[in-house]
Amino acid sequence: MASEIEAALAAVPSDGPTIFDKIINKEIPANVVFEDDKVLAFRDIAPQAPTHILIIPKVRDGLTRLSKAEERHCEILGRLLYTAKLVAKQEGLEDGFRVVINDGPQAGQSVYHIHVHVLGGRQMNWPPG
Ligand code: ADP
Repeated sequence: MASEIEAALAAVPSDGPTIFDKIINKEIPANVVFEDDKVLAFRDIAPQAPTHILIIPKVRDGLTRLSKAEERHCEILGRLLYTAKLVAKQEGLEDGFRVVINDGPQAGQSVYHIHVHVLGGRQMNWPPG
């Protein structure tokens, strides 16, 4: 079994702090590629493509996972997707890129702070694994 799936199955969905809080608070380093007052984008520590960036809200506000989204989250959800576009352009992904949000154990979510994966730089397959 792939290690990221093992990590996802071992992860207990929770509202508690995650490793991403430490990145936001600069307690641990991250390779930040974009930042504004609302979102932070940084390179995934275990890249699954030549370009693999994670985009997260700086304030989680209950958004541990997409299935917890409420009406009040519409603005930040839109900003996460718009940031995916900005980051893809910045990374030179003019031939295309993939945007992924994993929700819950069956999708392989291991960090319960909503995040958008931006993957590019190689041909993607469909269906995803
Ligand atoms: P999965 O672990 O199955 O990919 P997620 O969709 O929850 O599930 O993605 C979490 C992502 O966070 C993973 O791609 C993982 O490599 C990445 N990650 C974990 N810790 C760090 C870190 N300290 N810096 C950058 N990326 C990290």
